[in-house]
Amino acid sequence: MTTTSVRLGNRFATALPELALPWTGEAAPDPRLLVLNEPLAAALGLDPSYLRSEAGLGLLLGTDVPPGATPVAQGYAGHQFGGWSPRLGDGRALLLGELVTDSGDLRDLHLKGSGRTPFSRGGDGLAVVGPMLREYVVSEAMHALGVPTTRSLAVVATGREVRRERLEQGAVLARVASSHLRVGTFQYAASLGDRPLMVRLLDEAIDRHHPSARSAPEPALGLFDAVVEAQARLVAQWMLVGFVHGVMNTDNMTISGETIDYGPCAFVDAFDPAAVFSSIDHGGRYAYGRQPLAAEWNLARLAETLLPLIDEDSTVAAEKATESLGRFRGLYSAAWYDGLRAKLGLPEGLADDVLTALSTDLFALLESGHVDFTSFFRRLGSAARDDRAPARSLVLDLPGIDAWLDSWLALAPDADAMDRANPAYVPRNHLVEEALAAATAGDLAPLHTLLDAVTSPYDERPGLERHLEPAPDSFGAYTTYC
Ligand code: AMP
Ligand code: MG
Ligand code: MG
Repeated sequence: MTTTSVRLGNRFATALPELALPWTGEAAPDPRLLVLNEPLAAALGLDPSYLRSEAGLGLLLGTDVPPGATPVAQGYAGHQFGGWSPRLGDGRALLLGELVTDSGDLRDLHLKGSGRTPFSRGGDGLAVVGPMLREYVVSEAMHALGVPTTRSLAVVATGREVRRERLEQGAVLARVASSHLRVGTFQYAASLGDRPLMVRLLDEAIDRHHPSARSAPEPALGLFDAVVEAQARLVAQWMLVGFVHGVMNTDNMTISGETIDYGPCAFVDAFDPAAVFSSIDHGGRYAYGRQPLAAEWNLARLAETLLPLIDEDSTVAAEKATESLGRFRGLYSAAWYDGLRAKLGLPEGLADDVLTALSTDLFALLESGHVDFTSFFRRLGSAARDDRAPARSLVLDLPGIDAWLDSWLALAPDADAMDRANPAYVPRNHLVEEALAAATAGDLAPLHTLLDAVTSPYDERPGLERHLEPAPDSFGAYTTYC
């Protein structure tokens, strides 16, 4: 395979030129492949040995693309921590184009850290090794957990020094997404006041992600309905695995319902709705337990952009959008309880009040006892097999947990089903940091062990014992930086 034989489309650039500035990646002084996702490459029709070659690295850096491809920096706007930014866009990223997977699906091939663009404002357009490897690990872990997400194809170290708090090593992440259409993309298009552009953007979003909206009485409302549903399900899945995105700005929320833009993200160890890890989230706007509210707020911003396409009469349009958004809480709650039911090994069709009572009591015990979320649920599988000790030992309130276990065990949970619903391994914050630090210092072994654990999260196996446990107290409070 050569670069010329890579079939990379320019669908976005052609359909939405107002949102696409043709651009190329910045040359790297000394490119070195740090990690390559071979199964993903194969599914995308990209030969791994080609990607490892000098020519392949040129593709992964955006400096050498096949004829006919039109790499672009995409325009978008966004609300960042509630404040409006009219023009964000790819300040350090490029959409190289679209690939077709072996199952016939369209996928964006996108780079992050590929150099300055017309959207860079004061930024240097670059990314560094640690955060790009974090996105690689966490996105692949989320995928393995069954959570919709962008995927990671490769991280290439550029050999360039990048100035941050100190000097760091530059890197480019190649990621794959069902598209990069964001709430912020709609906000940007709407702010341009160009109705034909909005209609084309709507068409593209419907075609690529929610084709059933095409036959809705008002396709714009059909799209909104579908995004409300996809996001309600997505955020419920985050909550069920203890994931904190960290920066749920409208530019970081997709129309597809995939998780995107892993920055200051983390997994909770101790269950705590107030958990915040990002150094810049001072008010706790995007705390673990506030994520459903943040998603709902972002969806309201999406609705505002669609109103003129929903109905000519703005009052009617607003009523329809409000009604659609009003479904979010019920959809979220249904997805959360359905996932919780599966985590508890209980059958479908269980009465709602039984599940809500179990859930209220359980989460009160977990929160008050600062119980490790992931290992508690994993160990509950043993309790369903007649050994209460492993789960019980994590909880401080022993009479409380015994009473809870009695009422739950009376429902005859299915232990095997629980092992398929409760991961043994999530990317533990302290082990992520350890792997990134080692990789930055040139030792990729801990990164590969971590990837091995988190990409087969339900299959507990020897040699990965450290990955079952929360951070030791000595790790202290975890803070993530963008
Ligand atoms: P993020 O916080 O990664 O979602 O990015 C928010 C906005 O800041 C996007 O428009 C990014 O392209 C831009 N941005 C982030 N880092 C940089 C950088 N180093 N150089 C230029 N733009 C950046
Ligand atoms: Mg699709
Ligand atoms: Mg972003």
